[in-house]
Amino acid sequence: MIKIALIAHDDKKADMVSFVAKRLEFFNSEEIEICATGTTGKFLKFAGISKVQVLLSGPKGGDAQIAAMVATGEIDAVIFFRDPLDAHPHEPDVQMLMRVCDVHQVPLATNYMSVKLLLDWFRSLYRDWE
Ligand code: PGA
Repeated sequence: MIKIALIAHDDKKADMVSFVAKRLEFFNSEEIEICATGTTGKFLKFAGISKVQVLLSGPKGGDAQIAAMVATGEIDAVIFFRDPLDAHPHEPDVQMLMRVCDVHQVPLATNYMSVKLLLDWFRSLYRDWE
């Protein structure tokens, strides 16, 4: 079982939905568990992911919840469609999440291309399971 956390800043939610919608077989497979910050989670359900653990919205502490789960070993990878061109009130939480991923060697992809590479790698594992 692989547990993946997904987060998308507002200006990146459309990118995330189109990314996920093209890979639903993977995201809905039995071996994958998904959790997400609040609004991202709603978009993921809209995109077609059937089972999402929806946490608090990012600005209300969702990124901090994911950081805590990374620290306790519950998360295997974090996919974060970040918007580097806007200010976010919860930037300290975002920094903490990235730091905790580095501390615990949890893969963290923060832009479309790195997300794609990370997912391609997971999907190659998934193909081996079949
Ligand atoms: P959201 O939070 O999914 O609730 O929009 C994401 C974020 O801004 O960290």
